[in-house]
Amino acid sequence: MAAERAGPAKSRAIVIRTVAFGETSSVVTLFARELGKVRTLAKGAWRPKGHFDGGLDLLSTSEVLVLRTASGGLDLLTEACLEHRFRVGTSLAAVSGGMHVAALLDDLTADADPQPELFDAAHATLRDLSGTVMPDDIVAGVVVRAELAILRITGHGPALCECAACGAALPTAGRVAFGMLDGGTLCGRCRQGRRAVISVSPAGLATLRGFASPDRRSIDLPPAVGAEVRAIMNAYLSHLLGRPPVAARWLPHQPAPKAARPRGSRERHAP
Ligand SMILES: [Zn+2]
Repeated sequence: MAAERAGPAKSRAIVIRTVAFGETSSVVTLFARELGKVRTLAKGAWRPKGHFDGGLDLLSTSEVLVLRTASGGLDLLTEACLEHRFRVGTSLAAVSGGMHVAALLDDLTADADPQPELFDAAHATLRDLSGTVMPDDIVAGVVVRAELAILRITGHGPALCECAACGAALPTAGRVAFGMLDGGTLCGRCRQGRRAVISVSPAGLATLRGFASPDRRSIDLPPAVGAEVRAIMNAYLSHLLGRPPVAARWLPHQPAPKAARPRGSRERHAP
């Protein structure tokens, strides 16, 4: 449900995009816990002694005050008090993970549609990625866990335990088909003749199921299965978004560039 428009509104918010506007201002896109995605104008954001004091840094979380306009145009951002700054030192993987989470919030949500659970999942991920420099295997796991949580909350979670097309049980042994257009795993009958299908190893599927579970504790994703999982997530998000997830390209465990496939081949392994 869209939040009521017009008037001042306070919320915790993640800065998911910021673009300089004029001499000293910025257009700032926020994903706010109580307001959903809002596009705001922060006047004087770049002045040396402005009101915002670090609260508009990309991927930071701030307590914001937004003056909502009734016209449906840009809202006015009048205060941003920094709560958590995204700091990852020199980890390109962690920066990429943070940018990827912000892009998914932007791409998979409508304006002014509050989703507190989605905010909480994204905020927790940005906190996990921030601070101490983590090994790439941990960054990879944190990101996959976040992707699956974001997809589940926004109604795009892939089927992993039954056939996405007919609901039937999956084969209990061997590789399982994953249909991009159907949104998940496919039974032997439904995979026949379908396009945009990849084949997932038992280890890859078990890993995806584990990371999709809200009770998941371990976040370590070793390269042996990490490259396959990364390839599946890249392919699934590409189908969902209609283009590759740009910020994901520097994440750890990227699959090797595809080898040429035989003509007419409809199914490929991931990676
Ligand atoms: Zn089926």
